[in-house]
Amino acid sequence: MGLIKKLFKEITKPIVNDFKGKQGESKVNAKLNPLIFNKVNHRQINNLIIMDERGKSHQIDHVEIRENGIFCIETKNYKGWIFGSEDLDKWTQTLYNHEKHQFLNPIKQNRSHIYHLSKILDNKYKINSVIVMVQNNADKIDVPYVINLKDLNTYLKNFNDGTHLLDSEMEEIENLILLKASKINNKEHLKNIADTQSKIKDGVCPRCGGKLVDRVGKYGNFIGCNNYPKCKFILKE
Ligand SMILES: [Zn+2]
Repeated sequence: MGLIKKLFKEITKPIVNDFKGKQGESKVNAKLNPLIFNKVNHRQINNLIIMDERGKSHQIDHVEIRENGIFCIETKNYKGWIFGSEDLDKWTQTLYNHEKHQFLNPIKQNRSHIYHLSKILDNKYKINSVIVMVQNNADKIDVPYVINLKDLNTYLKNFNDGTHLLDSEMEEIENLILLKASKINNKEHLKNIADTQSKIKDGVCPRCGGKLVDRVGKYGNFIGCNNYPKCKFILKE
């Protein structure tokens, strides 16, 4: 695929998905919230935005803090059949009319969220990844923490890796996250994404302002920054 085509593919993606994504998140909110009334001791932060040291923003759908662990929850609201694995870069959505679409592997996406979340907690705590398929179509994904929305409560309740957080620790974790996470709102996060995309569209490296060029690597051609190795920006498809 040519450079321009690749760039165009990149810029047309995330914003389009955003509305559906929001709907998925509120469904998860609805699933998690009744737990407060069941007197399950937990703390929940929704739509957390973390700014990294490069000024890039990362949006986390839900952080759930419980006695038995900290969970970073990524939701996907896609219809149809979903195929994928831990290692694939892209997962495939097959609609009932057999139309296929690809999207970024949410496990990898969440790994990066956890990396940034972990960092603001000084890497002191284990953070567990949970991917929730809002349309309850996780059955073809053979990964234990990729689950259907209907199983979310049970999954969180039964999770047991020996972690036992005290009430005071849960409070400290929540406060630390809220204190260190960026105060920027969703609108600014979207603007941030849009700015990055418009730079990419103009062939400008969003990280350092260098020039994006076709490069040849061990695993084939890719688009990177001409300031490599100083800047390691790579355009992900
Ligand atoms: Zn660069």
